[in-house]
Amino acid sequence: MASRVIPVDPFDLVIFGGTGDLARRKILPALFRRFVAGQIEGDVRLIGAARSEMDRDGYRTMVRAAIAEFGGEEEGRKKDLAAFLEMLDFVTIDARGTTGWAELAGKMRPGRIQAFYFSVAPVLFGDLAKRLHKHGMANQASRIVVEKPFGRDLETARDLNRVLARHFEERQIYRIDHYLGKETVQNLMAIRFGNVLFEPLWNSQYVDHIQITVAESVGVGGRGDYYDRSGAMRDMVQNHLMQLLCLIAMEPPAKFDPDAVRDEKLKVIRALDPVKATDVVRGQYEAHEDRPDYRTQVDNPDSLTESFVALKVHISNWRWAGTPFYLRTGKRLRERASEIAVVFKDAPHSIFGADAGRHRNILTIRLQPNEGIELGVTIKEPGPGGMRLIDVPLDMTFAEALGPEEADFPDAYERLIMDVIRGNQTLFMRGDEVEAAWAWTDPIIAGWAESGGAPLPYASGSSGPDDALMLMHRDGRRWREIKP
Ligand code: NAP
Repeated sequence: MASRVIPVDPFDLVIFGGTGDLARRKILPALFRRFVAGQIEGDVRLIGAARSEMDRDGYRTMVRAAIAEFGGEEEGRKKDLAAFLEMLDFVTIDARGTTGWAELAGKMRPGRIQAFYFSVAPVLFGDLAKRLHKHGMANQASRIVVEKPFGRDLETARDLNRVLARHFEERQIYRIDHYLGKETVQNLMAIRFGNVLFEPLWNSQYVDHIQITVAESVGVGGRGDYYDRSGAMRDMVQNHLMQLLCLIAMEPPAKFDPDAVRDEKLKVIRALDPVKATDVVRGQYEAHEDRPDYRTQVDNPDSLTESFVALKVHISNWRWAGTPFYLRTGKRLRERASEIAVVFKDAPHSIFGADAGRHRNILTIRLQPNEGIELGVTIKEPGPGGMRLIDVPLDMTFAEALGPEEADFPDAYERLIMDVIRGNQTLFMRGDEVEAAWAWTDPIIAGWAESGGAPLPYASGSSGPDDALMLMHRDGRRWREIKP
């Protein structure tokens, strides 16, 4: 079954920070892949913009190298690559100065979609918005894409929202959370709201608890300076884990439209209880063999920043009262693995007796690696040995169900950038959502600062600090093993 690709309308896309890490690793390879897929065609212009002195040919050479490294340039695609590079242009521009702005304005073509990707440090977002407006590029056809982090607390997020709102309407602002662009995350909505099977059970009467794990095996790498000022709570929980929590917990929207979905997500965030200090565990990784500890890596011997956090969260509404959500994320953990596990309650009565043991249905949504959905069901162990029960997965690995071609998912950035061009904001965070998430997160971070305590050390390659295990053990539950 070949995938159906509908080309988007012609557009001009400016990538501020077009020479940076994100542009080279994600944005440009994503655009190339959409071009190869036939979704980008015709008269499209992709304009890199940064302070570097570079001409169009220099930029094309840089992008060619980036695609070779990150975009999977295969033999057969060389013709495509030449045509793709033809779409590229470059403007030397200073977000804080006057250089390049008139030239950029001269390159934008009226009457077509105009998108501006802010792939620069967040301190420059306001400068870019202001200058786009001043040079006549903040018009009805234009839209801006804003990268994370969106503020570092409620106050800075509000300020940023205010600055952007001076020149752009909310419908023109696309705040990226690339987790929302993952195929499985959208499938979560399809599974919940496209089937009758799950939704009747999707509440505290049938769900014992829900676990959300986003585990990374790498350390902070070259991002130490940024990370040490941020930490796992700001870098991962406030945005990615909260978004996953919202999608799993929200009420069915009346229709699948941007504001209906985002209204429901916002209600979830607003229904979150404040987190008790005893329900949060933060950790910092230790050295392992030739790999340095966190403090050495960020070059801050006194750092109190967490590279791991686990939380128990309650949602105070009719659907979820009494069902805890356990969230954890961290660096230098055993494996790189992200999943959501919906753990259903025991059957009310076991007709098979105590010997049959305890069996539970678990719906697992794997985000990475190997995106897919798995439903654990209880069956009889084969053989003549009586009625012994075992748990087996009803595996919905997409590659098997759909065929390898259909299951060759686009990268999250491919989908999200195409959504920007199509003008669909469903998978982007609204300003009030971001603010509500910070309003919930801020007191947790403030509590740490007030207590003056340090994060708990944990061994690299482990599952995090022991206290994080205890967070569940004391409730008679356990984390699922972190495995690839
Ligand atoms: P980066 O590698 O440092 O690139 C920054 C880009 O901004 C460069 O192209 C730089 O080029 C340009 N720039 C800097 N100052 C400028 C100015 N005054 N005017 C115009 N351009 C300027 O950063 P990055 O890692 O790509 O990150 C970009 C944004 O994405 C940040 O907001 C970051 O938080 C976010 N993000 C990054 C990642 C990632 O994996 N890298 C992931 C999620 C979010 P010149 O120096 O030539 O001007």
